[in-house]
Amino acid sequence: MIVMKFGGTSVEDAKAIQRVAQIVQGRLKRGPVIVVSAMAGVTDALVRMASAAADGELDVAIAELAKVRARHLQAAEELVKVEPRKQLLAKFDENFAALDTLLRGVAAIGELSARTTDLVLSVGEVQSSLLVTAAFQSFGLAAEHVDSREVVVTDATHKSAQPLLELTTERLKDSLPALLAKSRVPVMGGFIAGTADGETTTLGRGGSDYSAAIIGAALSAEAIEIWTDVEGMLTTDPRICADAQRIRTISFDEAAELAYFGAKVLHPATLLPAVERDIPVYVLNSRKPRSTGTCIRSKVPPSKTTFRAIAAKKGSTVINLRAPRMLFASGFLKSMFDVLERHRCPVDLVSTSEVSVSLVVDPSHDVAGIVPELKQLGEVEVEPHKAIVCLVGKDIRGTVGIAASVFAVLAQAGVNIHMISQGASEINISVVIDEDAVPKAVQHLHAHFFPAQGESEDVNRRKPSGASGRAEKVIGLVAASAGGEE
Ligand code: ASP
Ligand code: MG
Repeated sequence: MIVMKFGGTSVEDAKAIQRVAQIVQGRLKRGPVIVVSAMAGVTDALVRMASAAADGELDVAIAELAKVRARHLQAAEELVKVEPRKQLLAKFDENFAALDTLLRGVAAIGELSARTTDLVLSVGEVQSSLLVTAAFQSFGLAAEHVDSREVVVTDATHKSAQPLLELTTERLKDSLPALLAKSRVPVMGGFIAGTADGETTTLGRGGSDYSAAIIGAALSAEAIEIWTDVEGMLTTDPRICADAQRIRTISFDEAAELAYFGAKVLHPATLLPAVERDIPVYVLNSRKPRSTGTCIRSKVPPSKTTFRAIAAKKGSTVINLRAPRMLFASGFLKSMFDVLERHRCPVDLVSTSEVSVSLVVDPSHDVAGIVPELKQLGEVEVEPHKAIVCLVGKDIRGTVGIAASVFAVLAQAGVNIHMISQGASEINISVVIDEDAVPKAVQHLHAHFFPAQGESEDVNRRKPSGASGRAEKVIGLVAASAGGEE
């Protein structure tokens, strides 16, 4: 069997859901289990409803609810045949009425607990999974709804519940294989789950990928497919570099590194249950279902290019801390990290010498509060508008001269390097540069390390398809973060 997870934009309206039905139709032989997100934008709308209600703005919350309801009814009207539609609308009504009651309750007491938040947010996936099931049936697929709240079992950490894998596996094995044996297509909501005593929980924002990985791992799926609105992961941001190429295969570690540096197709950490069991995870585009997307696995063959991808994270701030005393003060770094910890400020990169430390942080954190405290430890200098350019590749380990060629390319492009970091895992080389030098730096690095089409691994294996050699026009993985996937 395989798990096919469709994100918010893949089920955003009737047209999108029709595309999904077609994609699933083409995979019936492989025994698909379908996991769906809420329709795009719905979870955000539910978050707004809950907080409006808690702020006493019940009318705002109810108006928002009416819009969400209308979207579901519209899609149902376009997708579901008349008779089954009556049953679907009855379920919709029941769930929206419960949500209405809940919002009124929140407004009345002016308080929103994590437990209530989960009840509110769960409505998105509860409704989308019912809708997709009914739509599939009208399309002629033998779909069957499975309530994730009954089979994906978690602890009671509301809003970011942890799955209880043993119990979940047991329940999934009790329900899904029997359906698959009858050639049914189980359809489940992602993101939502339940405690052992039946309380609704959610796995955290973006949690549908996690659901897919949990279900795939529990049932030892052959593959997990994450269907989204981009064509897998790319070698770099196509908005910066028109030559960005699709990455065919990438290791889990590399994908995790890229996600951290701004490539937001998915949070690879959520794929861990699958990757640990060496189940391949494919990122695919529901608007271009023929493309083979990107395959993420724990172990991958060496890449033909030196690096797998180049990512850039703009809007970073460098904090330089100079302290001659550091030479002998063993507790210096600890004191420095204590300051950061107190302000809950994560550090993206660190580089140290005997007398100075440079830190890269995201300025959305309390830099103004941190600096005075650091000044008690030494001389502080703050440099805003910096960017981290991160070159990721497993195979750089043990290869001589790679850092030198990175620096040579940047020198030739006239880009000044402020900081350098290569972790012990040697899976990436990161340099900190001025933010406005990013396009120049990335373009030069990409041109050097990802030779033109026809030579790279990706392009070699790409099927000749259509008129232009670039028929499979890539849509950016970084661009996706600006888009609507939920
Ligand atoms: N609908 C949820 C969210 O927007 C979960 C998901 O789509 O993965 O966070
Ligand atoms: Mg998502």
